[in-house]
Amino acid sequence: MSTNVKKVTLQKPSLEEVAKILNDGLGKHFEHASVSVVDCPDLTQSPFHLAAPGLGGQTAIADVGGPPYLVPLVQRDKKYSFEQVASLVADKTSENAFLIGASAGPFHLVGQNCELMPNVLLKRGDSGVFEVVENNTHFSKVNEKDEYSLSKISASEFGLLGNMFVSEGKPCKVLKVEARKRTGADNFVTAMRNVLREHYQQTPVSLGGSFLVATGKAKLHIMPDFSTKPLLSDDDVNNWLRFFEMDSPLVCLSVFHSLDPQLDLRIEHTHCFSDHNQGGHYHYDTTPQDVSYLGYFNLASAIVRIDAPKETHGIGRD
Ligand SMILES: [Zn+2]
Repeated sequence: MSTNVKKVTLQKPSLEEVAKILNDGLGKHFEHASVSVVDCPDLTQSPFHLAAPGLGGQTAIADVGGPPYLVPLVQRDKKYSFEQVASLVADKTSENAFLIGASAGPFHLVGQNCELMPNVLLKRGDSGVFEVVENNTHFSKVNEKDEYSLSKISASEFGLLGNMFVSEGKPCKVLKVEARKRTGADNFVTAMRNVLREHYQQTPVSLGGSFLVATGKAKLHIMPDFSTKPLLSDDDVNNWLRFFEMDSPLVCLSVFHSLDPQLDLRIEHTHCFSDHNQGGHYHYDTTPQDVSYLGYFNLASAIVRIDAPKETHGIGRD
């Protein structure tokens, strides 16, 4: 395969150290915040509905493609698959690859641009090639009348850009993050990211996992079909995107990095799905008084940058 792939191994701190730093730091962002190290609950169960029970085994964050393939104008040749990501990211000894996160949808299969919530378990078959064995991936799309829908999708493809936490889906110790009543301006993920950035400074620490917006409401966007006129600024992108307030509980699949080690990363990316026909790209909760979050996260041992755009820009990364 000729795809351009770059791998950076990370110096992982201990989960206990990260838990203490987040526990101490999130108090500046939420009235109540508590972070501890626990055995990962079975995340295949309600309310999470993930494709594998845990976030353990070999871990990495895959950053595939990027916004430059979407704006100013779509590049329709930029299509990827979960099998491809698994084969590029998984350790040679790994039997499983469990992918969760946020990506653009397989526009060529759905028939229009859309949001994807990758949530898929692959196993290495006898031939050594990864095959999907469990897929609870959802996508959301919106039409010209601003009517949106959320559906499951059995395909294993996505388009343009994707940010995924890759593990082996095994039981493990994880960070349990609980936060209630937001008092700061940052969203839940940005708050954690900034706390880690402040502590670790120039050393990148990268996390992935799943969290619930358990109570309250949140602002999400859904990309409409591709713009036919070039999107040249963040204002252009925000006028093109469709924004909605959606209801809890939302299951969010998230990756974030305290720092970009010059890989042209999406520094944070979170997509949400639900059992009530709502889902999309998470921006922030709109009900700081009523919001509560519950998340489980693990540390990534590596960042794998796949097919980074040669010509890049900072538009459309919020
Ligand atoms: Zn997104």
